[in-house]
Amino acid sequence: MTNKKILIIAAGIPLAGAAIFFILIKSAVAPSAPAETILPRQTIDRLTVAETTKAQKVQAAAIERKPLFYFAPILTFHYIATTSETSSVAIGLHVGSAEFEKILKSLRANKYQTVFAGEMAAYLKRGARPPDNWVVLTFDDGYRDFYTHALPLLEKYQAKATIFIITGVKGSAYLTPEQIKEIDQSGLVEIGSHSVTHPMLAKLSPERQSAELSDSKAYLEKLLREDITLICYPYGDYNAAVERIAQRVGYSFGFTYNHHPLQDSEDMFAIDRASVWPGMNVIGFLKDLEARNRGLKIATSTGRLNIQ
Ligand SMILES: [Zn+2]
Repeated sequence: MTNKKILIIAAGIPLAGAAIFFILIKSAVAPSAPAETILPRQTIDRLTVAETTKAQKVQAAAIERKPLFYFAPILTFHYIATTSETSSVAIGLHVGSAEFEKILKSLRANKYQTVFAGEMAAYLKRGARPPDNWVVLTFDDGYRDFYTHALPLLEKYQAKATIFIITGVKGSAYLTPEQIKEIDQSGLVEIGSHSVTHPMLAKLSPERQSAELSDSKAYLEKLLREDITLICYPYGDYNAAVERIAQRVGYSFGFTYNHHPLQDSEDMFAIDRASVWPGMNVIGFLKDLEARNRGLKIATSTGRLNIQ
């Protein structure tokens, strides 16, 4: 599906307005990335869905005079490993363990505090801006290298993280149930669902949506004997129906995927996260968000968005 089609279907408002608005959002809040940064094309395509939805919400809030938006850094990792694959998508999803350790070291040196996604979300729900030094590290899909590469480093630096598990996909690349339990018992890692089969949720029937969200929750709750309150939508793909079902089956917070982690304190089922890719200047990105928060305002008098 082209970006234009997504805009036409998702917007429900005139295409030109939506497109201009989308461009404004992108240009207004795009963080400065280092020149060597590789943002996977596939990631850009996936982001389009979430970003379009967010753009509409920001616009709607501006019109309804709800100045509720600010940035809160929730970072997304996939593999903590290097790769011999050459596609930009594969490269972009791999952050090697040496680089991950450098990120943890620099977070510590710059006095950042890692908190669980659930802690950040609970704070956002109160409508307040979280402390500038809070950062969330999330890991998608439940790859085995989280156990072999990420967990030892999280323990070394006593850093917290949140991992979102696909419960219905098994294989040597994925965590075993025993590893998931051990990770949970480390006390440093919060566990959430990433669906059963990793589909584009918004494209499914309500029955399949419900099954993906509730069966994965039930699986993890049985395995870990604790409440699973976080759902992370595969590909960041969600819509209002997915949000409603997530709430109905008992989740407290839903996470999507958007390079600009612009949060809406009135929507706890569309919390934004930003991807980390190899070579990314993470501290620079965090400082950029802080600076944007200081200048963030929505010009409600005209209903026009003005993010500085
Ligand atoms: Zn995923």
